[in-house]
Amino acid sequence: MNVCVSPYRGRFAPSPTGPLHFGSLVAAVGSYLEARRRGGAWLVRIEDIDTPRNAPGAADTILRTLEGFGFRWDGEVTFQSRRTDAYRAAFERLRRDGLVFPCACSRREIADSALAPDGSRRYPGTCRGGLPAGRRGRAWRLRVEDGPVRFRDRLQGEVTEDVAHAVGDFVLLRADGVFAYQLAVVVDDAAQGITEVVRGADLLDSTPRQIYLQRLLGVATPAYCHLPAAVNARGEKLSKQTRARALDASRPQPALAAALAFLGQRPPADLGEAELDALWQWALEHWDMERVPHRRSAAAPAGFA
Ligand code: GLU
Repeated sequence: MNVCVSPYRGRFAPSPTGPLHFGSLVAAVGSYLEARRRGGAWLVRIEDIDTPRNAPGAADTILRTLEGFGFRWDGEVTFQSRRTDAYRAAFERLRRDGLVFPCACSRREIADSALAPDGSRRYPGTCRGGLPAGRRGRAWRLRVEDGPVRFRDRLQGEVTEDVAHAVGDFVLLRADGVFAYQLAVVVDDAAQGITEVVRGADLLDSTPRQIYLQRLLGVATPAYCHLPAAVNARGEKLSKQTRARALDASRPQPALAAALAFLGQRPPADLGEAELDALWQWALEHWDMERVPHRRSAAAPAGFA
């Protein structure tokens, strides 16, 4: 019998909204070590499609920080800002299939709709049957049909969501002409042949939408593994908004050792002072996804929030 095992391909996909912080380091470390442990490739993709949120110079800073921390990626770094044609092709295909519709609603008009799991507003379906008289389409939404999307996350377990009920018809092409993250990430993960997505659990709520889109576009669904997201003392996910501390590229070891400990690995007490090569050697030899806590979030260690 011929067993065809597809080679492992993982990725790290930061948005260049600011410098890397401890939360992004956790996603980088987890996805990198898992890919290397499985003898696979690890790709870096700069998710700079949301141009209004991009911080000038952040993409460069992120790549230099990754390099300084000792990450080695495979192939060229990809930039979403250069892949608009691919997103447009996917969008046009959905449009030809009658699966998208223009929507005239402003954010304010759907502000009192029910909350979706990710904190956005569930779309009440206002323009689904056609634009109200005298209104112009602003954004384009996907027509989402009822029915559960189920998947088994390696760390977070079974997830079931009826996307139509939880989120409703979601935006694929925004009013400002930018393709939505949900579409771009699905097109890119498919184009790059990603076999497993390892990322922070703050994105768990996006996964059912991504799987829903993968099915419509006829592309493979990768395996998913959502790592605990690092939160600060107030329980907020580290981000630019929470003014998360930027990683110090001149001293990677303490942050790397802290990220390994955060991910349930048991680094020796002095690993934070080891040579960078020795630290990575330890990490590659000892990395075990089974040890990562099955939690959606955990506190970042002192000094890294
Ligand atoms: N660009 C997203 C972020 O930085 C991550 C997307 C993903 O890993 O799917 O939050």
